[in-house]
Amino acid sequence: MTFELQSSTTAAAEQLHRKLAALGQDGYDLAACERYAAQIDEINRLKAERGAVVLAHNYQRPEIFEVADFIGDSLELARKAREVRGAEIIVFCGVHFMAETAKVFNPERMVLLPDRRAGCSLAESVTAEALAERKAELREIYPDLKVVSYVNCTADVKALSDACCTSANALKVAEAIDSEHVLFVPDQNLANYVQSQTRKQIISWDGNCYVHHQITPDEVNKVKRAIPGIKVLAHPECRTDVLRLADAVLSTSAMVRYAETSAADKFLVVTECGLSDRLLMEIPNKHFYKSCKLCRYMKMITLGGTLDSLRNLRFEIELPDDVRQGARRALERMLELGA
Ligand code: SF4
Repeated sequence: MTFELQSSTTAAAEQLHRKLAALGQDGYDLAACERYAAQIDEINRLKAERGAVVLAHNYQRPEIFEVADFIGDSLELARKAREVRGAEIIVFCGVHFMAETAKVFNPERMVLLPDRRAGCSLAESVTAEALAERKAELREIYPDLKVVSYVNCTADVKALSDACCTSANALKVAEAIDSEHVLFVPDQNLANYVQSQTRKQIISWDGNCYVHHQITPDEVNKVKRAIPGIKVLAHPECRTDVLRLADAVLSTSAMVRYAETSAADKFLVVTECGLSDRLLMEIPNKHFYKSCKLCRYMKMITLGGTLDSLRNLRFEIELPDDVRQGARRALERMLELGA
């Protein structure tokens, strides 16, 4: 019996090793994969025992994808969580504002974030107090002003917004909202991208995602020169001069769909590195070149931390009722306007 257990664990570790080693990254030797295979088994056992689901953002580590019930962008994941029957607990492998959004849509469920240090430079660039002040100032000048907040912000900022948006529907929401003047928080690059396509006045906030903001046109041009015909897919959180070089400007989930259905077989994925790992694992017959920019916040979530979170039910996300309801109103307005 003991022998059978050891050999099946080893077989699972070897299979995992083959899969993860194919990504061409350090840190996936057989010893590490043996440890991961044991943690994956234990996470799956606890998920069944506790009635839990694991949601993983596209930028997570490859081994986290192995225990995820759903992989996607933050909004897709929050909406998925609502649809899962019988799940009492949601373990959110992503960053804090995403776990908050999951809680907004699932107030009756326990939402856990495996590492409470997993924040976000973009979300941290705007506070509810600063937004309230700026909104009041601008309303003196533009009485019709409306606030659109990108979902990458905290729940109390969402609660002060007229509508939220994602990178996929930002333009649609800005166009549909009943105002000619839109204060767009917190990402200045996404605001500039929307401004380039609308006649409305978009007033941007001075925030950015440090991961996307550091990618330069030189880096993209180098790859384009080295690999003729490569399709460049860029995330709208990138700088305007990088977006100009892209064949398509897409959200992370739209990049997955684009790569699956495109006739092209070589792509430069200009966003956080984790998405390329997902693409390599899911579409092994195509080639994905990555920008090698890692989000330090996303990478704080580990398989060991996820196991600890499920085992000890930590760290729980809690939101005051007024914040939760205000954030939900802004998120639902987005769904109406961006549909
Ligand atoms: S990639 Fe950027 S926007 Fe996403 S969590 Fe990291 S810092 Fe925030």
